[in-house]
Amino acid sequence: MSQSNKGLFWFRNDLRLEDNPALHSLCTACDAVTFVYILDPELLVPTVFTESRLGDARWLFIKESLADLQQQLEQQEQQLIIKVGKPSDVVKQLIELNTITHIAVTPLSGVYEKRDVETIKFQFNDKLTWHEHESFTLFNQTELPFSIDDLPDGFTPFRKKIEKSIKPIHLSEKVIAKSKSLATQITTIKSDQLPVIPKFISPIEKMIHKGGEQAARLQLDFYCHQSKNLSQYKETRNGLDGWDFSSKLSAYLAQGCISPRQVMQTVIDYEQQFGANQSSYWLYFELLWREFYYWHQEKVGADLYLERGIRDIDPQLSVDESKLKAWKQGETNSDFVNAFMCQLKQTGWMSNRGRQIVASYCVNQLQLDWRYGAAWFEEQLIDYDPANNWGNWQYLAGVGVDPRGRRAFNIEKQQQMYDPDGVFIGCYVD
Ligand SMILES: Cc1cc2nc3c(=O)[nH]c(=O)nc-3n(C[C@H](O)[C@H](O)[C@H](O)COP(=O)(O)OP(=O)(O)OC[C@H]3O[C@@H](n4cnc5c(N)ncnc54)[C@H](O)[C@@H]3O)c2cc1C
Repeated sequence: MSQSNKGLFWFRNDLRLEDNPALHSLCTACDAVTFVYILDPELLVPTVFTESRLGDARWLFIKESLADLQQQLEQQEQQLIIKVGKPSDVVKQLIELNTITHIAVTPLSGVYEKRDVETIKFQFNDKLTWHEHESFTLFNQTELPFSIDDLPDGFTPFRKKIEKSIKPIHLSEKVIAKSKSLATQITTIKSDQLPVIPKFISPIEKMIHKGGEQAARLQLDFYCHQSKNLSQYKETRNGLDGWDFSSKLSAYLAQGCISPRQVMQTVIDYEQQFGANQSSYWLYFELLWREFYYWHQEKVGADLYLERGIRDIDPQLSVDESKLKAWKQGETNSDFVNAFMCQLKQTGWMSNRGRQIVASYCVNQLQLDWRYGAAWFEEQLIDYDPANNWGNWQYLAGVGVDPRGRRAFNIEKQQQMYDPDGVFIGCYVD
C-alpha cells in the first residue's frame, strides 16, 4: 500500500460501518480516510408539490443515525465531517483540500443520487480511483438473472425469476483505517449542532423509531430473536399500530443503518435455529418488493415521477388545494383515513395497510393528483425511499407496474376488517 493513497468516504444512504463493502474496499486500499455526510439544502426548498422534501421526523432520524455513526467512528479515532451544501461542491472541496486519490460511495438508483456522482466523475474524470460497491439491495446488479432493460414489468415474474436463480447473502467485513483521520483541517459540525429545519410543521409527539446502526441491530434482534415476532409475521403484518406486528426495519433500511443482506442473514440464522415457516419466508417476500422497486427505478429513471407514469396513461386527476389540505391534516370525511394521516404526522411512520388505504382515498375519493400525495409522503416518512415511495404510489394510481390498473379500496370495508371497534381511530382522532 502506498502512503499517497488518501481516501474519501461519502456516506449517503449507508449510515453504517458493518456490511458496507464500499467502505471496506476504500479502507483496505487507503492508509488515511476522510469520512463525510452532506445535507443538501435543496431538500428544504419548496417544490411544486410540497413545502420541503425533507420533514422533521426523517431529519431527526438521520441526525440520530449520524450521532451514532460519529460515536462509532470516534471509537476508532476517526471523525465524521458533516456539511451542509451542494453535495458535488462539498466533495470537490474535500478532494482538493485533502488531495484525495480514492473515493467510495454505495451506488443508489435515485435520479438525484446518480446525478451527484456523475457530476463528480465528470469533474475529476480519471484523477480518482472509485470504489463503488453495491449494498443497498439484496443482490448486486450482475447477479440478477436478466439485464436491467429486461427487468420484468411486474413483481410476480420478477420474484419467480429471482427465486429460481439466486440466494441472497454475502456480507462484507468491517474494516476502518487505523491511521489518523485526514479531516483535521476542515471545519466540521457535530451531529448535535446540525441545523433545525425551520419548517416545523408539528412537534413529533410520538416518535417511536430511534435512528442509528446500533438501534437497527437491536431492532432486528428484537423482532427476530427476542420476541420471535418473525414467526407470526404473515398473520400480523396487516396490523395498523404498535411495535410488534411488523419488523419496523424500513427506516433503518432506507437510511442504510442496516443492509437487507444483514436482515436476510438474521432470518436465515433464525430459520436454522427455530425452523422456517410461511412467516419467515414472507419477510423475504416483502424484501423482494423493495428490491423490485429499486431495480425498477434503475430501469425507468425519471419516469417514476411522471404524472402519466411508466404506462403513459392519463390518470384524470387534478389539484384541489382544500381537499389536499384536508387529506394531509387528517380532516377528511373519513375518520379512518384521518387516523392514518395523524399517525403519519405524529410518528413519521404508517403501516403498509394504512399507506394503501390513504393513497387509494387520495386518488379515488378525492381525485387528487397522486404526485401531491407521494410528495407529502416523501416529506413526512422517516423511511422515505424514492424507488419504494414513488413506485408504490404509481402502482396505486394505476400508472405504474400493476398491469391491472388502478386499485380502489373500499374504505368502509377496510375499516370493518382492520378496525371494527374503532380502537385505532380512537388513538389518533378525538
Ligand atoms: C403508497 C405507499 C408508499 C410507500 N412508501 C415507502 C417508502 O417510502 N419507503 C419504504 O421503505 N417503504 C414504503 N412503502 C412500503 C411499505 O409500506 C413499508 O416498507 C412498510 O410499511 C414499512 O414497515 P415495516 O418495516 O414494519 O415493514 P414490514 O412489513 O416488516 O416489511 C419488511 C420490509 O419489507 C419491505 N416492504 C414491505 N412492504 C413493502 C412494499 N409494499 N413495497 C416495498 N417494500 C416493502 C420494507 O423494506 C420493509 O421494511 C410504501 C407503501 C405504499 C403503499
